[in-house]
Amino acid sequence: MPICTMMAMTGTETSRLTIDLGAIVANWQDLRDRHASGEVAAVVKADAYGLGAQIVAPALHAAGCRHFFVAHLSEALAIRPLLPGAMLAVLNGLAPGQAEVFADRDITAVLGSLPEIARWVAEAQRLGRRLPALLHVDTGMNRLGLDETELATLAADPEVLTNLDLLYLMTHLVSSELPDDPINQRQRAEFAAACAALPPMKRSLANSSGIFLGPDFASDLARPGAALYGINPTPGLPNPMRQTVRLDIEILQIRQIEQGDSVGYNAAWRATRASRIATAPLGYADGWPRSMASCSHAIFDRRPVPLVGRVSMDLTTYDVTDFPEIMPGDWLTVIGPDRTPDDIARDAGTNGYEVLTSLWSRYARTYLA
Ligand SMILES: *Cc1c(COP(=O)(O)O)cnc(C)c1O
Repeated sequence: MPICTMMAMTGTETSRLTIDLGAIVANWQDLRDRHASGEVAAVVKADAYGLGAQIVAPALHAAGCRHFFVAHLSEALAIRPLLPGAMLAVLNGLAPGQAEVFADRDITAVLGSLPEIARWVAEAQRLGRRLPALLHVDTGMNRLGLDETELATLAADPEVLTNLDLLYLMTHLVSSELPDDPINQRQRAEFAAACAALPPMKRSLANSSGIFLGPDFASDLARPGAALYGINPTPGLPNPMRQTVRLDIEILQIRQIEQGDSVGYNAAWRATRASRIATAPLGYADGWPRSMASCSHAIFDRRPVPLVGRVSMDLTTYDVTDFPEIMPGDWLTVIGPDRTPDDIARDAGTNGYEVLTSLWSRYARTYLA
């Protein structure tokens, strides 16, 4: 049953994105069962991977989730009032000038460098109270987090941390979706060494795929994002997660073309027989990858309908020659149970994360409880 509709569903919309909140919550509960050693957070950065943080985060909060991560301060500010009593942390760190807003709005800083620590400590001193933080150590990603030298400096003088309420020490895995990659064990060992060098505190290690790496990668707080939204955390094995997204598009027109006629920009596809071509309102301005080759397809009545020609900004074309029953006004499913974001990613040369986070705002959105 739809619990919320973002755009007036007047029956006039021609593309519909349906997001199953119940499936997202069930995925979170499933991950919690798999990570019994500790808590399980929800990563809701990038608007909950494109699915709508304003709606997804409160649904997880209602199910008992009490730890949330975003990437930007602005993302945290937008959902802070919706998550009473929960930790809400900003993965990208504490930029200059942000400390006062973080403290004022009860946002937890993820400190990944000595200057960030200094900023947060100064704010704590100014306010005369301890401020919540995660410490982020780099164990191989080389993007954010304390490097080896900074870690040694901090380990030699942990007094600087006394004004902080250190909730977790965290690191981020480089290749957790590849269980045989030796970097996983190297990072685990480096993380253990970092934990030993610093004052005792709780730990946060696994992302989605990390939860599936086994007990060595369990910690006090896992940080899954992708798996909550149905992306397969175990590529190469059957997807243990529920699908959460469905995208349907209405056929605007169908035309008959001759053998040898081309379809779309640059005549990138040419009919090898007399063909029926269906045009539907989906393009790269909707986040549908232009790199999607003609090997891709939509679904009608559980059968694949081939995409033909270039994906353009607002339109995509399908070959419905073998579907005489398809008429203008019929709907094709482009994401659904038989066509997951991971499938689309494979066709477009990207990953499921990019497919989901690209689902932009033109669709009429419906959320199922
Ligand atoms: C994005 C992110 C996560 C979540 O990763 P998934 O692979 O989507 O589960 C966890 N931790 C950090 C630091 C991240 O940047």
